[in-house]
Amino acid sequence: MTMRVYQQRLTLLRQVLKEQGLDGILVSCPENRRYLSGFSATDSHLNESSGFLLIGQDAAFLLTDFRYREWAQAEAPGFSVQIYGQGMAKLLVELVRQLGVGRLGFEAPFLTYGTYQKISQEAEAAGLQIEWRPLENVVEQLRAVKDQEEISLIRRSLAITERVLAQVGATLRAGLTEGEVAWRLEQALREAGAEGPSFPPMVAAGKNAARPHHHPGERRLQTGEPIIIDMGAVYQGYCSDMTRTFYLGEPDVRFKEIYAIVRRAQLAAEAGIRAGMMTHEADGLARQVIVAAGYGEAFGHSLGHGVGLAVHEHPSLSPVQERAVTLQAGMITTVEPGIYLPDWGGVRLEDMVLIQPEGAQLLNRDRTFYQFD
Ligand code: ZN
Ligand code: ZN
Repeated sequence: MTMRVYQQRLTLLRQVLKEQGLDGILVSCPENRRYLSGFSATDSHLNESSGFLLIGQDAAFLLTDFRYREWAQAEAPGFSVQIYGQGMAKLLVELVRQLGVGRLGFEAPFLTYGTYQKISQEAEAAGLQIEWRPLENVVEQLRAVKDQEEISLIRRSLAITERVLAQVGATLRAGLTEGEVAWRLEQALREAGAEGPSFPPMVAAGKNAARPHHHPGERRLQTGEPIIIDMGAVYQGYCSDMTRTFYLGEPDVRFKEIYAIVRRAQLAAEAGIRAGMMTHEADGLARQVIVAAGYGEAFGHSLGHGVGLAVHEHPSLSPVQERAVTLQAGMITTVEPGIYLPDWGGVRLEDMVLIQPEGAQLLNRDRTFYQFD
């Protein structure tokens, strides 16, 4: 990304701050920090941050510690890098005072109570009044609409995932454990040029496939049961996410029936999603197919989610109308309907699409996976 990209992002953010009557924003979400500044460090734990951004109308600071100084300066030339020697809270309070920030927005889902308390105590000791304003999805809304460079990075990330899933998918056989397959996927992702997996690959065989999220374990693959593999790559910071359902041996009637319903639901959504549509309407395109087939109760999660610097990001294609947002051109989301039946297993199919005014463009290229179509 060029300097200009980051400057444009800051300009957009400052407009939002103005509209919301805020003097500044404290950014603590690692993906938002990277999106706005270019500083690519990640956080290993919620309570171990590699840095914070403090952005006002005329200033942009990146607060970090000594270990990250050179890295931050190299990657975030648009920011003034400030090193905290006596704790982040002390430095932040000093900078807030310098900027004359009264109303300070913070990212409610990404600032721990402990950090908030430390800052408040420092502010009090310094006799500074900070009017805290909790924010949600402010930078995330900017991130949701991708530019051309981001779209091409996500395409490459997905291409790696497709190649790896095809390669490892061809080696599936009865007797391998879920964990062994997950490790093959992880290894192949690295060898194919990914920085790593976008989340630990999920391999769920047989009854385990009835759990939408499952931790691959000692269970061995067997013939005559569904195997769900959900995985993704990270390429230059950008994630991909994809699920396919495999079956060893000749599929039985029940599997074929359930697979066909899920695939029909997915195709209905991919054909109908477009910019201007509400997220719950997008979800409904697939959900109505599954409900009509009598499996509504067995599709208990949202149709999809945004994908970008984070594998799960804004917007959520949730069925809940109260949380609905309008889909915009340039958003990239997954389309992942599923049917899960305890004591049997499940089928989930997950593609990625680029939302456009006239429809959704499918980003997946490898069609060979649909062996049951
Ligand atoms: Zn997935
Ligand atoms: Zn997903």
